[in-house]
Amino acid sequence: MTARDVPATVDVLVVGAGLAGLHTATLLARRGHEVLLVERRPGFTGAIRTTGIFVRKTLDDFPLPPDCLGPPIRRVVLHPPGRGRPVTLDSARDEFRVGDMAPLYLAAARTAADAGVRIALGTRYAGRRDDAFVVTGADGPARVRARFVVGADGARSRVARDLGLDRNRALLVGAEEVFAVPGGVEPPAFHCVLDPSLAPGYLAWVVNDGRHAHVGVAGYAHRFPEGLRGALERFAVSAPGLPGVDRPLDVERRGGPIPVGGLLRRIGGPDGLLVGDAAGAVSPLTAGGLDPCLRLSEHAADVLDDALRTGRPGALARYDGGALRARFRGRLALRHGLAQVRTPAMAAAAFPLLRTPFGQAAARRVLFGDRSFPTPR
Ligand SMILES: Cc1cc2nc3c(=O)[nH]c(=O)nc-3n(C[C@H](O)[C@H](O)[C@H](O)COP(=O)(O)OP(=O)(O)OC[C@H]3O[C@@H](n4cnc5c(N)ncnc54)[C@H](O)[C@@H]3O)c2cc1C
Repeated sequence: MTARDVPATVDVLVVGAGLAGLHTATLLARRGHEVLLVERRPGFTGAIRTTGIFVRKTLDDFPLPPDCLGPPIRRVVLHPPGRGRPVTLDSARDEFRVGDMAPLYLAAARTAADAGVRIALGTRYAGRRDDAFVVTGADGPARVRARFVVGADGARSRVARDLGLDRNRALLVGAEEVFAVPGGVEPPAFHCVLDPSLAPGYLAWVVNDGRHAHVGVAGYAHRFPEGLRGALERFAVSAPGLPGVDRPLDVERRGGPIPVGGLLRRIGGPDGLLVGDAAGAVSPLTAGGLDPCLRLSEHAADVLDDALRTGRPGALARYDGGALRARFRGRLALRHGLAQVRTPAMAAAAFPLLRTPFGQAAARRVLFGDRSFPTPR
């Protein structure tokens, strides 16, 4: 569908076809509402931003297509700066699987279309004019009237701005390279390098599940000594967890902003609401946003369904980020702590503790814990 073909009136306009937008749109269409989903990218398989690590709770609770998921990962290896003796944590359970994101987005889009969602690709939400929303595609602008708009348009949400809702201020930026690897003798593993000179305020990672390697860094944009790209290049030449793997010349590059200030307080108003990164629904500590975006989308769809059915003014009031945010306090405190680790020496100082039973138990709670995004009551 092009911008010219978009319907003039719908119940809900969803902006952004990441997982949050696709899931919210599908749930609403399944409940009989007319939904238009606009996405500025021309297709689902390009410009992917995420590594795609799904945690166990997400895999347990959401029916992701198994053929779009890599082999289970049970091992996390924590490396100090300088790559001295690492700390290896093995879980007795499958903890993570990396999504093959291009087919996974395509499968989610097919599910949305089957549910009745009308999808306009290559179509950008361009703002609000009078009583309508403007969307623009290759064939020019079109106006859409919608009872509600859903901002699923990522960390720097234009919809949030137009609705006068809260916006993400605390952001990391991340970038990674992805390439196919031959299955090795090592078990699938998630390597984390804690080195603020490479990844200031977060970590550098290698995920090698025996099919693909993801080699990435993330941190506070203004703190990278040689810039994000420079840090990734430096890390890529000595990244751990890739024994015998030659990095091909042609790699897929991914990257983008990651909100880490916790769920925003004002994420809904009379005319619409925010989901996913637009709502700040990302774990401030691990920077994982896939589980939160799916869970918050379910809550958003419930609230919108109720509002559309009952027509009650203020039905969206129970979509309250402030109430849910309270349950992020611990993770926000730990994010604050991680942000203070500014030198390799400070990061190295954490390793003696990580080698103790207490330190390992704490690391396991963060990495293998059952906590996920709070389920809204
Ligand atoms: C490098 C990196 C690695 C990550 N790795 C992981 C991970 O392994 N596991 C994990 O749980 N989380 C990870 N995250 C976070 C996670 O990817 C996000 O939290 C999650 O994908 C957010 O989904 P979303 O649908 O809210 O946003 P997005 O997937 O960003 O989707 C937003 C969509 O909106 C579209 N859009 C934006 N503006 C407009 C507009 N004006 N009009 C139309 N369309 C618009 C965009 O094109 C985009 O498709 C990572 C993030 C980054 C940056």
